[in-house]
Amino acid sequence: MNIDLSGKVAIVTGAGRGIGREIALTLAQEGVITVITDIQEDLLAAVGSEFALNGYRGSQYLCDVRSAVQIQQVIDQIVEKYGRIDILVNNAGVAGGAPIDVLAEEVWDLNFDINLKGTFLMCKAVAPVMKRQKSGRIINAASFAAIVPSYGSAAYASSKAGVEQFTRVLAGELGPWNIAVNCYAPGMIPTDMNHFADLQEPQQQRLLDTLTFRHWGKKDDVAHLICFLASDFAGYITGTMIDISGGKLATQIPRIAYEKAASEGAYEF
Ligand code: NAP
Repeated sequence: MNIDLSGKVAIVTGAGRGIGREIALTLAQEGVITVITDIQEDLLAAVGSEFALNGYRGSQYLCDVRSAVQIQQVIDQIVEKYGRIDILVNNAGVAGGAPIDVLAEEVWDLNFDINLKGTFLMCKAVAPVMKRQKSGRIINAASFAAIVPSYGSAAYASSKAGVEQFTRVLAGELGPWNIAVNCYAPGMIPTDMNHFADLQEPQQQRLLDTLTFRHWGKKDDVAHLICFLASDFAGYITGTMIDISGGKLATQIPRIAYEKAASEGAYEF
């Protein structure tokens, strides 16, 4: 079985760096005409160069997901250029936070404006296109924080929980048009958003202690999930959140299994 996505048209938001960039490059490698958006011109240009170097098809647009006007302009241009939109990946996100006593209202708003409202605005603009086609896949970045939040993540975790619920509502509304809407919950993938891999060793170990697969996630883990969700193999999946966290908190005290494996020589701390 091969995942065949060639010739499909995708948009990936916030794809100038991090997981979004990996998603965009992976889709393009699979033959998808991949439109990437971001708010930093230099990052867009860098990804554009990589597309050109590899002969990938697609284009890049400056677009702030907080702006309905900018979004509509980009969607209009994409439809004019490529005629359709098959896949929308709402990846753009921020993760500002602080404990409630010092959590600034601006930080709360920023999380909600980009993570939740940005997802809503993108879906609102793309849905009419997908409805005309009677097909489409919308895939939203939620977070493990939507399931189990961490200390100081009130703004981020609440906005991502909103993404999860929004995903279900939209799946219900768009089901009759053969549009699947899903979201995913990455666990811990080192990026500029979190700098997990740059933490002091004891702090890293404390975080890794929560994982059933006791290592950081990789950006391409998410990119591969996106390919699957965008493919015909996922044709009967909608309205759900896929946990892609290496079994974060799936088991109690996962470290016990690793200590046992270490005693059997199968693992090294
Ligand atoms: P990242 O490296 O910080 O990348 C986020 C991207 O979003 C950046 O390219 C950023 O652009 C873009 N962005 C920010 N504000 C935007 C806006 N208003 N309009 C358009 N684009 C905007 O983060 P990441 O780790 O790759 O995360 C990607 C997504 O996965 C996020 O939604 C995040 O919440 C989610 N997630 C990540 C993890 C993880 O472990 N990494 C875990 C759970 C969920 P600039 O570079 O120009 O600022």
